[in-house]
Amino acid sequence: VAAQGIEISMPRYVRVNTLKISRSEALKSLKQLTDSVREDDLIPDLLILPAGTDLHKHALVLDGSLVLQGKASCMPAPVLDPRPDWEVIDACAAPGNKTVHLATLMKGKGRIYACEVDSKRVLRLRETVKIAGASNVEVHHGDFLKIDPKKLPYSKVRGILLDPSCSGSGTKVQRLDHLLPSNTTGSQKDDAEKQRVEQLAQFQERALLHALGFPAVERVVYSTCSIYQRENEGVVQAVLPQAFAHGFRLATALPNWPHRGLPVFDGAHHLVRTDSERDQMDGFFVALFVRKKGGATEVE
Ligand code: SAM
Repeated sequence: VAAQGIEISMPRYVRVNTLKISRSEALKSLKQLTDSVREDDLIPDLLILPAGTDLHKHALVLDGSLVLQGKASCMPAPVLDPRPDWEVIDACAAPGNKTVHLATLMKGKGRIYACEVDSKRVLRLRETVKIAGASNVEVHHGDFLKIDPKKLPYSKVRGILLDPSCSGSGTKVQRLDHLLPSNTTGSQKDDAEKQRVEQLAQFQERALLHALGFPAVERVVYSTCSIYQRENEGVVQAVLPQAFAHGFRLATALPNWPHRGLPVFDGAHHLVRTDSERDQMDGFFVALFVRKKGGATEVE
C-alpha cells in the first residue's frame, strides 16, 4: 500500500515520439483529457500530467505516438546527444524505451544497434521498435560483451548508451521491499543483497570498460536505476584510470540538474543523481564520458 501510495503521488510523465506526432499535436490531444498538461523544463518533448492520470489505453499510447516513460529514464538519451548521422549502440536495450528515444533524437536517421542478450526480452524490444516506427534501429540479439569493437559496423560507432542490468533499487516498489513479509532475517537479506549488488557492479564495470574500448566512440553514457554507490559512483571510479588511458574524461551530464553524484571522488559533480522522494521520479544515475581529442587527462 505504501509503495503504491508513493507511486500514485508521482506526476504522470509521457514522452512524445516525434517520429510519429509533433509536440503541439500531442499537447492538443492531451488537453482534451486534462487542462493541466505541461512541458518539462529539462527534457525536450516530455509532458507532465497530474498524478494518477491513466493513459495506458489512450489511442496515442497504443499507436506509439506517446511513450509512457518516467523523467529519470528520459535522461540518458539526451545526455548521449547523438547526431542524426551517427552510428550508435544501445548496449543493453530491452524493453527499448531508451532505444526509441535515441531514434527520435536522431530523427529516424543514422543507425542504432540495439543489443539485447535475453531471448524473451528481445521480442519485447522488437515490438517497442516496431510500434515506435523507429526504422533506423537494428536489433542485435546477443551479448554486448561479445561484440568485437574492431569489426564493422561497430568499429564506426560514435556513441554508446549503456543502461545495464542493475539492482533496481531506485524504483519505489523495490525500495519498499522490506515492508513485505518474508521468512528471511534482516541480516541474511542484507548479505544476499550486498552480494547481488557486488556481482552486478562487476558486470557493470566490465560492460562500461568494453564500451570505452570502441575505436571511434566519442561519447559513452552509463546509467542505472540504482541508488547504491557501488553501482553508480563506485563503477565510474573503478573504470576512470582505463577511461583516461583511452583518452576519455568525465563531462557534466545535464548541467542544469541540481543534484549531482555523491562526493566520493574529485569530479563526482559531473554525475547526475535523482531521488524518488525528493525529485518525484525514480532514483536514477547518469554519467557521461567524452573522448578528449589528443589523449588522456585528469578529472576536471
Ligand atoms: N535500456 C532499457 C530501457 O530503457 O528500456 C532497459 C535496460 S535493462 C536495465 C537491462 C537490460 O540489459 C536487460 O534487458 C538485460 O536482459 C540486458 N542485458 C544484460 N546483460 C546483457 C549483455 N551482456 N548484453 C546485452 N544485454 C544485456
